[in-house]
Amino acid sequence: MAIRPLIGMPCAPMLRADPSSLVYACNPNYAHAIEEAGGVPVLLPLWERRESLEALRGRLDGLLLMGGGDIDPAHYGQEPIRQTQPAEAVRDTLEMELTRDALDERLPLLGICRGMQVLNVARGGTLYQDIAYQLPAAQPHVLGGTGMDRLHDIAVRRGSQLARILGGERHAVNSFHHQAVNLLGDGLTIVAWTDDGVAEAVEVEGHPFALAVQFHPERMYEHDPALRRLFAAFVAACQARAGQHAS
Ligand code: MN
Repeated sequence: MAIRPLIGMPCAPMLRADPSSLVYACNPNYAHAIEEAGGVPVLLPLWERRESLEALRGRLDGLLLMGGGDIDPAHYGQEPIRQTQPAEAVRDTLEMELTRDALDERLPLLGICRGMQVLNVARGGTLYQDIAYQLPAAQPHVLGGTGMDRLHDIAVRRGSQLARILGGERHAVNSFHHQAVNLLGDGLTIVAWTDDGVAEAVEVEGHPFALAVQFHPERMYEHDPALRRLFAAFVAACQARAGQHAS
């Protein structure tokens, strides 16, 4: 029987309305997508002790960076503009460290939305803090809707891992982001764009599987076989990694 790989997923900090208290959150779509693809979602609380990170090292088979709020622009040497959301310092730091570890250790990594931005910033890249304000000619990227009904097209780079997975060079995807990759991080390649030139996916050169997308496949995969294959390819890479551990 195939090994079910353990996939670390840092949670989002979230305030419960009533009573007003902090919780560590995960939209179930992400966990379901990983489980359906044959992986085990391992939710990670936002710990602040270095010992926890050290103890986890080498024990996961993959890392999934989920969507969420804006990264503190201090991580890429900028002051926040008015449109940028308040920072979530602990999540920023933890995700950056986990990302750098995953790249160093060639651990499979899938980034989604904010996760793509984390990957870029962890490699020294910068972001447009607000597409509508800083790139006024860009098309709308906050489309809203259910995640299935309001889509924009992306063009996918020929020969990229993403093109192989999707099985084509054009795809319709949802869009829930107001930020985007600006200066590209070291070792990253942009592998998908909208027609306005906004980056919609990146890959890490020379890594077995480090891919990040600006859209939300976890909200589409149940109805889109190509995006189901994206989770399957990620989990397969994690499985191969788990096999290396076991042998
Ligand atoms: Mn978009």
